[in-house]
Amino acid sequence: MLYIFLEFFYVVVKVNKIDGTNVKRKAGILSIKIKSKLTKIKHPSVKYDFELYAKGGWIFFSLFCTFVTSKNSFCTQTTVMKISKEAYYSDVILIGTGIMSATLGTFLRKLEPNWTMRIFERMDRVAIESSEAWNNAGTGHAAFCELNYTPEKPDGSISISKAVKIAESFEVSKEFWASLVEQNIIQNPENIIQHIPHISFVWGEEDVNFLRKRYEALSKHHLFSAMQYSETPSVLAEWMPLILEGRDPSETIAGTHMALGTDVNFGTLSRSMFQYLEHSDEVELRLHHEVEDIKRRFDGLWELSIKDLDSGDMHYFTTRFVFIGAGGGSLPLLEKADIPEGHGYGGFPISGQWLVCNKPDIIARHHAKVYGKAKVGSPPMSVPHLDTRLIEGQQALLFGPFAGFSTKFLKHGSYLDLPFSVKWGNIMPLVFAGVHNMPLTKYLVKQVVQSHEDRMAALKEYFPNAKSEDWTLQQAGQRVQVIKKDETEGGVLEFGTEVVYAKDGTLATLLGASPGASTSVSIMIDVLSKCFPDEMATTQWQKKMLKLIPSFGQSLAKDAVLCEKTRKRTERVLFKTNK
Ligand SMILES: Cc1cc2nc3c(=O)[nH]c(=O)nc-3n(C[C@H](O)[C@H](O)[C@H](O)COP(=O)(O)OP(=O)(O)OC[C@H]3O[C@@H](n4cnc5c(N)ncnc54)[C@H](O)[C@@H]3O)c2cc1C
Repeated sequence: MLYIFLEFFYVVVKVNKIDGTNVKRKAGILSIKIKSKLTKIKHPSVKYDFELYAKGGWIFFSLFCTFVTSKNSFCTQTTVMKISKEAYYSDVILIGTGIMSATLGTFLRKLEPNWTMRIFERMDRVAIESSEAWNNAGTGHAAFCELNYTPEKPDGSISISKAVKIAESFEVSKEFWASLVEQNIIQNPENIIQHIPHISFVWGEEDVNFLRKRYEALSKHHLFSAMQYSETPSVLAEWMPLILEGRDPSETIAGTHMALGTDVNFGTLSRSMFQYLEHSDEVELRLHHEVEDIKRRFDGLWELSIKDLDSGDMHYFTTRFVFIGAGGGSLPLLEKADIPEGHGYGGFPISGQWLVCNKPDIIARHHAKVYGKAKVGSPPMSVPHLDTRLIEGQQALLFGPFAGFSTKFLKHGSYLDLPFSVKWGNIMPLVFAGVHNMPLTKYLVKQVVQSHEDRMAALKEYFPNAKSEDWTLQQAGQRVQVIKKDETEGGVLEFGTEVVYAKDGTLATLLGASPGASTSVSIMIDVLSKCFPDEMATTQWQKKMLKLIPSFGQSLAKDAVLCEKTRKRTERVLFKTNK
Protein backbone atom coordinates (compact mmCIF):
# COMPACT_ATOMS: atom_id res chain seq x y z
CA MET A 1 0.00 0.00 0.00
CA LEU A 2 2.79 2.35 0.97
CA TYR A 3 4.49 1.64 -2.32
CA ILE A 4 1.34 2.40 -4.30
CA PHE A 5 0.81 5.55 -2.29
CA LEU A 6 4.37 6.70 -3.01
CA GLU A 7 4.03 6.04 -6.71
CA PHE A 8 0.74 7.89 -6.79
CA PHE A 9 2.22 10.78 -4.83
CA TYR A 10 5.23 10.88 -7.14
CA VAL A 11 3.18 10.99 -10.33
CA VAL A 12 0.75 13.56 -9.02
CA VAL A 13 3.52 15.84 -7.74
CA LYS A 14 5.38 15.60 -11.07
CA VAL A 15 2.35 15.98 -13.32
CA ASN A 16 1.06 18.98 -11.42
CA LYS A 17 4.56 20.52 -11.32
CA ILE A 18 4.19 21.09 -7.58
CA ASP A 19 7.30 22.78 -6.26
CA GLY A 20 9.44 20.71 -3.90
CA THR A 21 12.34 18.99 -5.62
CA ASN A 22 13.49 17.36 -2.40
CA VAL A 23 10.09 15.85 -1.71
CA LYS A 24 10.00 14.38 -5.21
CA ARG A 25 13.55 13.05 -4.95
CA LYS A 26 13.00 11.44 -1.59
CA ALA A 27 9.74 9.90 -2.72
CA GLY A 28 11.47 8.57 -5.84
CA ILE A 29 14.41 7.10 -4.00
CA LEU A 30 12.23 5.61 -1.26
CA SER A 31 10.04 3.98 -3.85
CA ILE A 32 13.12 2.41 -5.49
CA LYS A 33 14.21 0.99 -2.16
CA ILE A 34 10.77 -0.43 -1.46
CA LYS A 35 10.59 -1.91 -4.95
CA SER A 36 13.98 -3.55 -4.47
CA LYS A 37 12.80 -4.99 -1.15
CA LEU A 38 9.47 -6.19 -2.52
CA THR A 39 11.13 -8.00 -5.39
CA LYS A 40 14.13 -9.14 -3.30
CA ILE A 41 16.45 -8.02 -6.05
CA LYS A 42 19.79 -6.70 -4.95
CA HIS A 43 20.47 -3.15 -5.87
CA PRO A 44 21.81 -2.32 -8.51
CA SER A 45 21.78 -5.72 -10.26
CA VAL A 46 18.10 -5.49 -11.16
CA LYS A 47 17.13 -8.24 -13.58
CA TYR A 48 15.63 -7.65 -17.00
CA ASP A 49 12.38 -9.61 -16.32
CA PHE A 50 11.78 -7.37 -13.34
CA GLU A 51 12.22 -4.39 -15.66
CA LEU A 52 9.45 -5.70 -17.91
CA TYR A 53 7.00 -6.26 -15.07
CA ALA A 54 7.92 -2.97 -13.47
CA LYS A 55 7.54 -0.96 -16.65
CA GLY A 56 4.23 -2.58 -17.52
CA GLY A 57 2.83 -2.07 -14.03
CA TRP A 58 3.94 1.53 -13.76
CA ILE A 59 2.75 2.51 -17.19
CA PHE A 60 -0.68 1.04 -16.40
CA PHE A 61 -0.73 2.75 -13.03
CA SER A 62 0.49 6.08 -14.41
CA LEU A 63 -2.12 6.02 -17.18
CA PHE A 64 -4.66 5.62 -14.45
CA CYS A 65 -3.16 8.70 -12.76
CA THR A 66 -3.36 10.60 -16.04
CA PHE A 67 -7.02 9.79 -16.19
CA VAL A 68 -7.49 10.90 -12.60
CA THR A 69 -5.49 14.13 -12.91
CA SER A 70 -6.65 14.92 -16.50
CA LYS A 71 -3.36 16.62 -17.33
CA ASN A 72 -1.85 16.86 -20.82
CA SER A 73 -0.78 13.51 -22.16
CA PHE A 74 2.74 14.46 -23.35
CA CYS A 75 3.76 15.55 -19.90
CA THR A 76 2.31 12.40 -18.41
CA GLN A 77 4.00 10.14 -20.95
CA THR A 78 7.34 11.70 -20.06
CA THR A 79 6.58 11.09 -16.43
CA VAL A 80 5.69 7.47 -17.15
CA MET A 81 8.99 6.97 -18.93
CA LYS A 82 10.94 8.67 -16.19
CA ILE A 83 9.35 6.60 -13.46
CA SER A 84 9.91 3.36 -15.34
CA LYS A 85 13.63 4.13 -15.26
CA GLU A 86 13.89 4.68 -11.50
CA ALA A 87 14.98 1.17 -10.60
CA TYR A 88 18.34 1.49 -12.30
CA TYR A 89 20.15 3.68 -9.85
CA SER A 90 23.79 3.27 -8.89
CA ASP A 91 26.07 5.60 -6.93
CA VAL A 92 28.64 5.76 -9.70
CA ILE A 93 28.59 5.17 -13.45
CA LEU A 94 31.80 4.82 -15.44
CA ILE A 95 31.63 5.02 -19.22
CA GLY A 96 34.33 3.05 -21.04
CA THR A 97 36.80 0.40 -19.94
CA GLY A 98 40.12 2.05 -20.74
CA ILE A 99 42.87 2.79 -18.24
CA MET A 100 41.12 5.94 -16.97
CA SER A 101 37.85 4.29 -15.88
CA ALA A 102 39.84 1.29 -14.58
CA THR A 103 41.93 3.56 -12.35
CA LEU A 104 39.04 5.67 -11.09
CA GLY A 105 36.88 2.58 -10.50
CA THR A 106 39.65 0.91 -8.48
CA PHE A 107 40.20 4.02 -6.38
CA LEU A 108 36.48 4.37 -5.62
CA ARG A 109 36.13 0.68 -4.82
CA LYS A 110 38.97 0.93 -2.33
CA LEU A 111 37.72 4.20 -0.84
CA GLU A 112 34.00 3.38 -0.65
CA PRO A 113 33.45 -0.39 -1.01
CA ASN A 114 29.70 -0.02 -0.37
CA TRP A 115 29.03 2.36 -3.21
CA THR A 116 27.25 0.72 -6.11
CA MET A 117 28.94 1.11 -9.47
CA ARG A 118 27.98 0.39 -13.06
CA ILE A 119 30.41 0.34 -15.97
CA PHE A 120 29.34 0.43 -19.61
CA GLU A 121 31.51 -0.47 -22.59
CA ARG A 122 30.43 -0.37 -26.24
CA MET A 123 32.95 -3.01 -27.35
CA ASP A 124 32.59 -6.71 -26.54
CA ARG A 125 35.93 -6.76 -24.71
CA VAL A 126 37.56 -4.61 -22.07
CA ALA A 127 40.19 -1.99 -23.00
CA ILE A 128 40.58 -2.57 -26.70
CA GLU A 129 40.67 1.07 -27.79
CA SER A 130 43.63 3.41 -27.03
CA SER A 131 44.63 1.53 -23.86
CA GLU A 132 45.17 -1.75 -25.73
CA ALA A 133 48.90 -2.53 -26.00
CA TRP A 134 49.23 -2.39 -29.81
CA ASN A 135 47.22 0.83 -30.05
CA ASN A 136 49.68 2.94 -28.06
CA ALA A 137 53.48 3.04 -27.70
CA GLY A 138 53.46 1.61 -24.18
CA THR A 139 56.03 4.14 -23.06
CA GLY A 140 55.93 4.81 -19.36
CA HIS A 141 56.14 8.56 -19.99
CA ALA A 142 58.48 9.91 -17.36
CA ALA A 143 60.12 12.62 -19.49
CA PHE A 144 63.37 10.64 -19.58
CA CYS A 145 63.55 10.55 -23.38
CA GLU A 146 60.73 12.74 -24.75
CA LEU A 147 62.41 15.91 -25.96
CA ASN A 148 59.13 17.80 -26.40
CA TYR A 149 58.67 17.92 -22.60
CA THR A 150 61.79 20.11 -22.23
CA PRO A 151 61.36 23.06 -24.61
CA GLU A 152 64.15 25.55 -25.24
CA LYS A 153 63.31 29.00 -23.87
CA PRO A 154 63.93 32.16 -25.96
CA ASP A 155 67.14 32.81 -23.96
CA GLY A 156 68.48 29.40 -25.01
CA SER A 157 68.05 27.74 -21.59
CA ILE A 158 65.97 24.60 -21.13
CA SER A 159 62.66 24.57 -19.27
CA ILE A 160 62.37 21.41 -17.18
CA SER A 161 59.17 22.18 -15.23
CA LYS A 162 56.89 20.05 -17.44
CA ALA A 163 59.40 17.18 -17.40
CA VAL A 164 59.57 17.26 -13.59
CA LYS A 165 55.77 17.21 -13.31
CA ILE A 166 55.44 14.25 -15.68
CA ALA A 167 58.30 12.32 -14.03
CA GLU A 168 56.70 12.84 -10.63
CA SER A 169 53.29 11.73 -11.93
CA PHE A 170 54.79 8.55 -13.33
CA GLU A 171 56.39 7.75 -9.96
CA VAL A 172 52.93 8.14 -8.40
CA SER A 173 51.48 5.77 -11.02
CA LYS A 174 54.14 3.17 -10.15
CA GLU A 175 53.32 3.57 -6.45
CA PHE A 176 49.64 2.83 -7.11
CA TRP A 177 50.42 -0.16 -9.35
CA ALA A 178 52.86 -1.50 -6.71
CA SER A 179 50.05 -1.34 -4.13
CA LEU A 180 47.81 -3.29 -6.52
CA VAL A 181 50.53 -5.96 -6.72
CA GLU A 182 50.77 -6.06 -2.92
CA GLN A 183 46.99 -6.43 -2.69
CA ASN A 184 47.01 -9.19 -5.31
CA ILE A 185 44.92 -7.18 -7.78
CA ILE A 186 47.83 -7.39 -10.22
CA GLN A 187 49.14 -10.94 -10.10
CA ASN A 188 51.96 -10.90 -12.64
CA PRO A 189 53.52 -7.43 -12.79
CA GLU A 190 56.06 -8.67 -15.34
CA ASN A 191 53.20 -8.88 -17.87
CA ILE A 192 52.40 -5.24 -17.21
CA ILE A 193 55.59 -3.29 -16.66
CA GLN A 194 59.22 -3.96 -17.57
CA HIS A 195 62.39 -1.91 -17.57
CA ILE A 196 63.45 -0.86 -21.05
CA PRO A 197 66.08 1.90 -21.23
CA HIS A 198 64.78 5.25 -22.42
CA ILE A 199 67.18 6.93 -24.85
CA SER A 200 67.08 10.30 -26.59
CA PHE A 201 69.03 10.34 -29.83
CA VAL A 202 69.87 13.35 -32.03
CA TRP A 203 72.22 14.32 -34.82
CA GLY A 204 73.59 17.62 -36.20
CA GLU A 205 75.31 20.43 -34.23
CA GLU A 206 72.13 22.26 -33.27
CA ASP A 207 70.26 19.29 -31.85
CA VAL A 208 73.37 17.90 -30.14
CA ASN A 209 73.80 21.28 -28.37
CA PHE A 210 70.16 21.13 -27.33
CA LEU A 211 70.52 17.60 -25.94
CA ARG A 212 73.68 18.53 -24.02
CA LYS A 213 71.94 21.52 -22.41
CA ARG A 214 68.90 19.37 -21.66
CA TYR A 215 71.06 16.75 -19.97
CA GLU A 216 72.87 19.43 -17.90
CA ALA A 217 69.57 20.93 -16.75
CA LEU A 218 67.80 17.65 -16.01
CA SER A 219 70.58 15.66 -14.39
CA LYS A 220 70.82 18.22 -11.56
CA HIS A 221 67.33 17.18 -10.47
CA HIS A 222 67.11 14.04 -8.32
CA LEU A 223 64.34 12.57 -10.52
CA PHE A 224 66.81 12.47 -13.44
CA SER A 225 70.17 12.15 -11.65
CA ALA A 226 70.73 8.64 -13.08
CA MET A 227 70.72 10.03 -16.64
CA GLN A 228 73.85 9.40 -18.73
CA TYR A 229 75.01 11.46 -21.71
CA SER A 230 77.40 10.56 -24.51
CA GLU A 231 78.65 11.79 -27.88
CA THR A 232 81.03 8.83 -28.22
CA PRO A 233 79.99 6.44 -31.01
CA SER A 234 81.28 3.32 -29.21
CA VAL A 235 79.19 4.13 -26.11
CA LEU A 236 76.14 4.96 -28.21
CA ALA A 237 76.65 1.69 -30.16
CA GLU A 238 76.46 -0.22 -26.89
CA TRP A 239 73.20 1.49 -26.01
CA MET A 240 71.58 1.10 -29.45
CA PRO A 241 73.58 -1.01 -31.94
CA LEU A 242 71.01 -0.93 -34.78
CA ILE A 243 71.03 2.86 -34.80
CA LEU A 244 74.82 3.16 -35.04
CA GLU A 245 75.33 0.48 -37.72
CA GLY A 246 75.79 1.86 -41.24
CA ARG A 247 75.90 5.46 -40.00
CA ASP A 248 78.38 7.99 -41.43
CA PRO A 249 81.25 8.06 -38.83
CA SER A 250 81.77 11.80 -39.40
CA GLU A 251 78.21 12.63 -38.31
CA THR A 252 77.83 14.59 -35.04
CA ILE A 253 75.58 12.49 -32.81
CA ALA A 254 74.61 12.35 -29.14
CA GLY A 255 72.36 10.41 -26.81
CA THR A 256 71.12 10.24 -23.22
CA HIS A 257 70.33 6.97 -21.45
CA MET A 258 68.00 6.26 -18.54
CA ALA A 259 68.08 2.66 -17.36
CA LEU A 260 64.96 3.35 -15.23
CA GLY A 261 62.76 3.71 -18.35
CA THR A 262 59.79 1.38 -18.75
CA ASP A 263 57.46 -0.29 -21.21
CA VAL A 264 53.91 -0.66 -19.92
CA ASN A 265 51.06 -2.82 -21.20
CA PHE A 266 48.13 -0.54 -20.37
CA GLY A 267 45.63 -3.02 -21.84
CA THR A 268 46.59 -5.85 -19.47
CA LEU A 269 46.82 -3.37 -16.61
CA SER A 270 43.26 -2.13 -17.26
CA ARG A 271 41.95 -5.69 -17.52
CA SER A 272 43.54 -6.62 -14.14
CA MET A 273 41.68 -3.74 -12.51
CA PHE A 274 38.35 -4.63 -14.15
CA GLN A 275 38.74 -8.26 -13.07
CA TYR A 276 39.09 -7.01 -9.52
CA LEU A 277 36.08 -4.70 -9.87
CA GLU A 278 33.89 -7.40 -11.39
CA HIS A 279 34.38 -9.61 -8.34
CA SER A 280 32.32 -7.24 -6.24
CA ASP A 281 28.54 -7.60 -5.78
CA GLU A 282 28.30 -3.83 -5.81
CA VAL A 283 29.80 -3.51 -9.29
CA GLU A 284 28.21 -4.42 -12.60
CA LEU A 285 30.13 -4.34 -15.89
CA ARG A 286 28.10 -4.45 -19.08
CA LEU A 287 29.97 -5.03 -22.32
CA HIS A 288 28.48 -4.26 -25.74
CA HIS A 289 26.40 -1.51 -24.14
CA GLU A 290 26.77 1.91 -25.72
CA VAL A 291 25.93 5.10 -23.87
CA GLU A 292 23.87 7.19 -26.29
CA ASP A 293 22.70 10.06 -24.15
CA ILE A 294 23.32 11.75 -20.81
CA LYS A 295 20.77 14.10 -19.30
CA ARG A 296 20.44 15.94 -16.01
CA ARG A 297 17.15 15.12 -14.28
CA PHE A 298 14.92 17.40 -12.28
CA ASP A 299 16.22 15.81 -9.06
CA GLY A 300 19.90 16.41 -9.86
CA LEU A 301 20.65 12.81 -10.80
CA TRP A 302 22.22 12.00 -14.17
CA GLU A 303 20.19 9.77 -16.44
CA LEU A 304 22.00 7.74 -19.09
CA SER A 305 20.33 6.17 -22.13
CA ILE A 306 22.17 3.00 -23.00
CA LYS A 307 21.76 0.71 -25.97
CA ASP A 308 22.32 -3.00 -25.60
CA LEU A 309 24.16 -3.62 -28.86
CA ASP A 310 23.23 -7.34 -28.88
CA SER A 311 19.46 -6.96 -28.54
CA GLY A 312 19.04 -3.36 -29.70
CA ASP A 313 17.04 -2.60 -26.52
CA MET A 314 17.40 0.73 -24.75
CA HIS A 315 17.97 0.86 -20.99
CA TYR A 316 18.00 3.85 -18.70
CA PHE A 317 20.17 4.26 -15.64
CA THR A 318 20.54 6.97 -13.08
CA THR A 319 23.46 7.97 -10.92
CA ARG A 320 24.72 10.78 -8.77
CA PHE A 321 28.23 10.65 -10.27
CA VAL A 322 29.23 9.88 -13.83
CA PHE A 323 32.74 9.65 -15.26
CA ILE A 324 32.96 9.81 -19.03
CA GLY A 325 36.10 7.74 -19.65
CA ALA A 326 35.19 7.09 -23.25
CA GLY A 327 38.56 8.12 -24.73
CA GLY A 328 37.92 9.65 -28.16
CA GLY A 329 34.19 9.09 -27.55
CA SER A 330 34.18 11.46 -24.56
CA LEU A 331 33.62 14.71 -26.48
CA PRO A 332 30.27 13.70 -28.06
CA LEU A 333 29.03 12.52 -24.65
CA LEU A 334 30.16 15.75 -22.99
CA GLU A 335 28.18 17.64 -25.63
CA LYS A 336 25.11 15.55 -24.82
CA ALA A 337 25.49 16.19 -21.07
CA ASP A 338 25.28 19.87 -22.02
CA ILE A 339 27.03 21.36 -18.99
CA PRO A 340 28.13 25.02 -19.29
CA GLU A 341 31.71 23.98 -18.44
CA GLY A 342 31.76 21.77 -21.55
CA HIS A 343 30.67 24.42 -24.03
CA GLY A 344 33.10 25.51 -26.71
CA TYR A 345 35.16 22.31 -26.81
CA GLY A 346 35.86 20.61 -30.10
CA GLY A 347 38.01 17.67 -31.14
CA PHE A 348 40.44 16.98 -33.95
CA PRO A 349 41.20 13.30 -34.57
CA ILE A 350 44.68 12.16 -35.57
CA SER A 351 45.25 8.47 -36.10
CA GLY A 352 48.52 6.67 -35.56
CA GLN A 353 50.35 3.99 -37.55
CA TRP A 354 53.48 1.94 -36.82
CA LEU A 355 56.02 0.14 -38.94
CA VAL A 356 56.29 -3.24 -37.21
CA CYS A 357 59.40 -5.41 -37.67
CA ASN A 358 58.79 -9.03 -38.62
CA LYS A 359 62.41 -10.28 -38.36
CA PRO A 360 63.12 -11.98 -34.98
CA ASP A 361 66.93 -11.56 -35.26
CA ILE A 362 66.56 -7.77 -35.71
CA ILE A 363 63.97 -7.49 -32.92
CA ALA A 364 66.37 -9.30 -30.57
CA ARG A 365 69.19 -6.83 -31.28
CA HIS A 366 67.36 -3.75 -30.02
CA HIS A 367 66.53 -3.25 -26.37
CA ALA A 368 65.52 0.39 -25.85
CA LYS A 369 62.94 3.08 -26.53
CA VAL A 370 64.87 5.53 -28.67
CA TYR A 371 63.12 8.87 -29.07
CA GLY A 372 64.28 11.51 -31.57
CA LYS A 373 63.29 15.10 -32.19
CA ALA A 374 60.07 16.01 -33.97
CA LYS A 375 60.58 17.78 -37.29
CA VAL A 376 59.80 21.52 -37.36
CA GLY A 377 56.05 22.07 -37.95
CA SER A 378 55.06 18.56 -36.89
CA PRO A 379 52.94 18.01 -33.77
CA PRO A 380 54.59 16.82 -30.54
CA MET A 381 52.97 13.38 -30.60
CA SER A 382 54.65 12.67 -33.95
CA VAL A 383 58.10 12.39 -32.29
CA PRO A 384 59.64 9.38 -34.05
CA HIS A 385 60.83 6.48 -31.92
CA LEU A 386 62.35 3.06 -32.47
CA ASP A 387 60.70 1.17 -29.76
CA THR A 388 61.15 -2.19 -28.07
CA ARG A 389 57.81 -3.52 -26.83
CA LEU A 390 57.12 -6.44 -24.53
CA ILE A 391 53.60 -7.60 -25.24
CA GLU A 392 52.28 -10.83 -23.72
CA GLY A 393 55.76 -12.22 -23.21
CA GLN A 394 56.81 -11.46 -26.79
CA GLN A 395 59.41 -8.87 -27.71
CA ALA A 396 58.44 -6.61 -30.61
CA LEU A 397 60.01 -3.70 -32.46
CA LEU A 398 58.01 -0.71 -33.71
CA PHE A 399 58.87 2.51 -35.46
CA GLY A 400 56.57 5.48 -35.67
CA PRO A 401 54.08 6.84 -35.09
CA PHE A 402 53.08 8.04 -38.52
CA ALA A 403 50.05 10.26 -38.49
CA GLY A 404 46.93 9.64 -40.47
CA PHE A 405 43.70 11.53 -40.82
CA SER A 406 40.36 9.91 -40.20
CA THR A 407 37.14 11.55 -39.06
CA LYS A 408 36.65 8.74 -36.51
CA PHE A 409 37.05 9.61 -32.82
CA LEU A 410 37.68 5.96 -31.89
CA LYS A 411 39.57 3.26 -33.79
CA HIS A 412 36.29 1.31 -33.86
CA GLY A 413 34.22 4.48 -34.24
CA SER A 414 32.17 6.02 -37.06
CA TYR A 415 33.29 8.33 -39.90
CA LEU A 416 30.48 10.64 -38.79
CA ASP A 417 32.11 11.27 -35.38
CA LEU A 418 33.85 14.50 -36.43
CA PRO A 419 30.99 16.06 -38.44
CA PHE A 420 28.46 15.20 -35.71
CA SER A 421 30.66 16.80 -33.05
CA VAL A 422 30.43 20.21 -34.73
CA LYS A 423 27.90 22.36 -32.86
CA TRP A 424 27.06 26.07 -32.78
CA GLY A 425 29.06 26.41 -29.57
CA ASN A 426 32.33 25.02 -30.99
CA ILE A 427 32.20 25.93 -34.67
CA MET A 428 34.21 29.17 -34.25
CA PRO A 429 36.94 27.62 -32.05
CA LEU A 430 37.24 24.82 -34.65
CA VAL A 431 37.56 27.27 -37.54
CA PHE A 432 40.09 29.49 -35.73
CA ALA A 433 42.14 26.52 -34.55
CA GLY A 434 42.24 25.30 -38.17
CA VAL A 435 43.36 28.70 -39.46
CA HIS A 436 46.09 29.02 -36.80
CA ASN A 437 47.42 25.50 -37.40
CA MET A 438 48.14 25.47 -41.11
CA PRO A 439 51.57 23.80 -40.57
CA LEU A 440 49.76 20.92 -38.84
CA THR A 441 47.32 20.60 -41.74
CA LYS A 442 50.24 20.54 -44.22
CA TYR A 443 52.04 17.97 -42.07
CA LEU A 444 48.96 15.74 -41.97
CA VAL A 445 48.43 15.95 -45.72
CA LYS A 446 52.07 14.94 -46.27
CA GLN A 447 51.74 12.05 -43.80
CA VAL A 448 48.55 10.74 -45.36
CA VAL A 449 49.96 10.59 -48.91
CA GLN A 450 53.16 8.79 -47.80
CA SER A 451 54.16 5.55 -49.51
CA HIS A 452 55.82 2.57 -47.80
CA GLU A 453 59.16 3.77 -49.19
CA ASP A 454 58.63 7.26 -47.70
CA ARG A 455 58.03 5.66 -44.30
CA MET A 456 61.11 3.46 -44.74
CA ALA A 457 63.16 6.61 -45.50
CA ALA A 458 62.02 8.06 -42.16
CA LEU A 459 62.97 4.79 -40.42
CA LYS A 460 66.40 4.76 -42.08
CA GLU A 461 67.25 8.07 -40.42
CA TYR A 462 67.26 6.03 -37.20
CA PHE A 463 68.12 2.54 -38.45
CA PRO A 464 70.19 3.06 -41.60
CA ASN A 465 70.37 -0.67 -42.53
CA ALA A 466 66.59 -1.25 -42.30
CA LYS A 467 65.17 -3.31 -45.19
CA SER A 468 61.78 -2.58 -46.62
CA GLU A 469 60.63 -6.22 -46.66
CA ASP A 470 61.24 -6.62 -42.90
CA TRP A 471 58.62 -4.03 -41.93
CA THR A 472 54.85 -3.86 -42.27
CA LEU A 473 52.40 -1.07 -41.52
CA GLN A 474 49.97 -1.47 -38.62
CA GLN A 475 47.14 0.80 -37.44
CA ALA A 476 47.46 2.23 -33.91
CA GLY A 477 44.81 4.05 -31.85
CA GLN A 478 43.04 7.34 -32.49
CA ARG A 479 43.95 10.50 -30.61
CA VAL A 480 41.39 13.27 -30.40
CA GLN A 481 43.24 16.53 -29.79
CA VAL A 482 41.37 19.13 -27.77
CA ILE A 483 40.24 22.35 -29.43
CA LYS A 484 38.93 25.02 -27.10
CA LYS A 485 37.75 28.60 -27.05
CA ASP A 486 40.42 31.21 -26.59
CA GLU A 487 39.86 34.90 -25.86
CA THR A 488 42.64 36.18 -28.13
CA GLU A 489 42.98 33.48 -30.80
CA GLY A 490 39.32 32.46 -31.08
CA GLY A 491 40.22 28.78 -30.81
CA VAL A 492 43.35 26.82 -29.91
CA LEU A 493 44.49 23.28 -30.53
CA GLU A 494 45.94 21.58 -27.45
CA PHE A 495 48.14 18.50 -27.37
CA GLY A 496 47.79 17.62 -23.70
CA THR A 497 44.95 16.17 -21.64
CA GLU A 498 42.24 18.18 -19.96
CA VAL A 499 39.64 17.16 -17.40
CA VAL A 500 36.28 18.93 -17.68
CA TYR A 501 34.08 18.95 -14.55
CA ALA A 502 30.49 19.90 -13.90
CA LYS A 503 30.54 22.75 -11.38
CA ASP A 504 28.99 20.60 -8.66
CA GLY A 505 31.44 17.73 -9.27
CA THR A 506 28.75 15.21 -10.32
CA LEU A 507 30.24 14.68 -13.78
CA ALA A 508 33.81 14.57 -15.02
CA THR A 509 35.41 13.68 -18.31
CA LEU A 510 38.87 13.49 -19.78
CA LEU A 511 39.65 15.01 -23.16
CA GLY A 512 42.91 14.74 -25.12
CA ALA A 513 45.55 12.04 -25.15
CA SER A 514 49.02 12.95 -23.95
CA PRO A 515 50.91 12.04 -21.73
CA GLY A 516 47.83 9.93 -21.20
CA ALA A 517 47.88 6.51 -19.68
CA SER A 518 51.21 6.96 -17.85
CA THR A 519 49.82 9.76 -15.72
CA SER A 520 46.34 8.21 -15.30
CA VAL A 521 46.80 7.83 -11.53
CA SER A 522 47.57 11.52 -10.89
CA ILE A 523 44.76 12.55 -13.24
CA MET A 524 42.27 10.39 -11.34
CA ILE A 525 43.49 11.72 -7.96
CA ASP A 526 42.61 15.18 -9.32
CA VAL A 527 39.18 13.89 -10.35
CA LEU A 528 38.63 12.51 -6.83
CA SER A 529 39.74 15.78 -5.21
CA LYS A 530 37.46 17.91 -7.38
CA CYS A 531 34.41 15.62 -7.40
CA PHE A 532 34.54 14.31 -3.83
CA PRO A 533 36.19 17.17 -1.86
CA ASP A 534 34.32 16.43 1.39
CA GLU A 535 35.11 12.73 1.35
CA MET A 536 38.74 13.45 0.37
CA ALA A 537 39.08 15.64 3.47
CA THR A 538 38.04 12.84 5.84
CA THR A 539 40.69 10.89 7.75
CA GLN A 540 39.08 7.69 6.48
CA TRP A 541 39.79 8.54 2.82
CA GLN A 542 43.19 10.05 3.63
CA LYS A 543 44.27 6.84 5.37
CA LYS A 544 43.10 4.73 2.45
CA MET A 545 44.84 7.02 -0.04
CA LEU A 546 48.08 6.63 1.91
CA LYS A 547 47.73 2.86 1.75
CA LEU A 548 47.47 3.07 -2.03
CA ILE A 549 50.03 5.84 -2.53
CA PRO A 550 52.46 6.09 0.40
CA SER A 551 53.77 9.49 -0.79
CA PHE A 552 50.21 10.91 -0.99
CA GLY A 553 50.10 14.57 0.08
CA GLN A 554 53.88 15.01 -0.29
CA SER A 555 56.04 16.01 -3.25
CA LEU A 556 58.38 13.48 -4.84
CA ALA A 557 59.72 16.31 -7.00
CA LYS A 558 60.78 18.37 -3.99
CA ASP A 559 61.81 15.63 -1.56
CA ALA A 560 64.80 13.66 -2.86
CA VAL A 561 64.89 11.28 0.12
CA LEU A 562 61.21 10.42 -0.22
CA CYS A 563 61.69 9.92 -3.96
CA GLU A 564 64.54 7.46 -3.37
CA LYS A 565 62.55 5.55 -0.76
CA THR A 566 59.53 5.42 -3.10
CA ARG A 567 61.62 4.20 -6.02
CA LYS A 568 63.19 1.47 -3.85
CA ARG A 569 59.71 0.21 -2.98
CA THR A 570 58.37 0.25 -6.54
CA GLU A 571 61.56 -1.39 -7.87
CA ARG A 572 61.22 -4.19 -5.32
CA VAL A 573 57.49 -4.77 -5.84
CA LEU A 574 57.05 -4.15 -9.57
CA PHE A 575 60.40 -5.35 -10.89
CA LYS A 576 61.32 -7.80 -8.10
CA THR A 577 64.73 -6.22 -7.61
CA ASN A 578 66.45 -6.40 -4.21
CA LYS A 579 67.85 -2.86 -4.36
C1 LIG B 1 49.14 6.14 -31.16
C2 LIG B 1 49.08 6.36 -29.69
C3 LIG B 1 50.22 6.21 -28.91
C4 LIG B 1 50.16 6.43 -27.53
N1 LIG B 1 51.27 6.20 -26.79
C5 LIG B 1 51.21 6.32 -25.43
C6 LIG B 1 52.34 6.00 -24.64
O1 LIG B 1 53.36 5.58 -25.15
N2 LIG B 1 52.24 6.15 -23.31
C7 LIG B 1 51.11 6.61 -22.71
O2 LIG B 1 51.10 6.74 -21.50
N3 LIG B 1 50.01 6.92 -23.44
C8 LIG B 1 50.05 6.78 -24.79
N4 LIG B 1 48.94 7.06 -25.54
C9 LIG B 1 47.75 7.61 -24.89
C10 LIG B 1 46.96 6.52 -24.18
O3 LIG B 1 46.80 5.42 -25.01
C11 LIG B 1 45.61 7.11 -23.77
O4 LIG B 1 45.81 8.30 -23.05
C12 LIG B 1 44.82 6.17 -22.89
O5 LIG B 1 44.82 4.85 -23.36
C13 LIG B 1 43.41 6.70 -22.80
O6 LIG B 1 42.65 5.86 -21.98
P1 LIG B 1 41.10 6.08 -21.83
O7 LIG B 1 40.63 5.17 -20.77
O8 LIG B 1 40.81 7.53 -21.69
O9 LIG B 1 40.51 5.72 -23.29
P2 LIG B 1 40.39 4.33 -24.06
O10 LIG B 1 41.44 3.36 -23.70
O11 LIG B 1 40.29 4.70 -25.51
O12 LIG B 1 39.04 3.75 -23.55
C14 LIG B 1 37.81 4.36 -23.84
C15 LIG B 1 36.76 3.27 -23.84
O13 LIG B 1 35.48 3.88 -23.90
C16 LIG B 1 34.66 3.11 -24.76
N5 LIG B 1 33.58 3.97 -25.25
C17 LIG B 1 33.67 5.03 -26.07
N6 LIG B 1 32.45 5.58 -26.28
C18 LIG B 1 31.58 4.85 -25.55
C19 LIG B 1 30.17 4.91 -25.36
N7 LIG B 1 29.42 5.86 -25.92
N8 LIG B 1 29.59 3.98 -24.57
C20 LIG B 1 30.32 3.02 -23.95
N9 LIG B 1 31.66 2.90 -24.12
C21 LIG B 1 32.27 3.81 -24.90
C22 LIG B 1 35.63 2.68 -25.85
O14 LIG B 1 35.15 1.56 -26.57
C23 LIG B 1 36.87 2.36 -25.04
O15 LIG B 1 36.91 1.03 -24.59
C24 LIG B 1 48.95 6.82 -26.92
C25 LIG B 1 47.80 6.96 -27.70
C26 LIG B 1 47.84 6.71 -29.06
C27 LIG B 1 46.60 6.82 -29.86
